[in-house]
Amino acid sequence: MTLKEVKRRWKTASETGKLTKSMKQILKLWKKHEGKCHICGQLVPNPLLQTELLTSSNYPSRDHIIPKSKGGSYKQKNLLLAHRKCNVVRGNIDIYDIPTKLKHKTWEQLKEGI
Ligand SMILES: [Zn+2]
Repeated sequence: MTLKEVKRRWKTASETGKLTKSMKQILKLWKKHEGKCHICGQLVPNPLLQTELLTSSNYPSRDHIIPKSKGGSYKQKNLLLAHRKCNVVRGNIDIYDIPTKLKHKTWEQLKEGI
């Protein structure tokens, strides 16, 4: 999905109040993690309230604790809040293998580190 599509979807959702299941999950995660990406520790804009702040590197996604490719589910307990790009950089790396030192860095730094 392109950034333009992401922004359009969230803007429509904010105007109509109609949210998809994945949007509801992201908002729940945002609240639970106080808007912080679990990979880099940086803030993720609230997609519903700060739609205009979303960029191609900072828009939110659901990161799987157990990756989808390893049988992880879309249940809320298997999900964490992450920037889309951090999520992509993490890929299929097991969450317990993400070195602590890689946390609290920007996704650009993470990308170099992995
Ligand atoms: Zn991040």
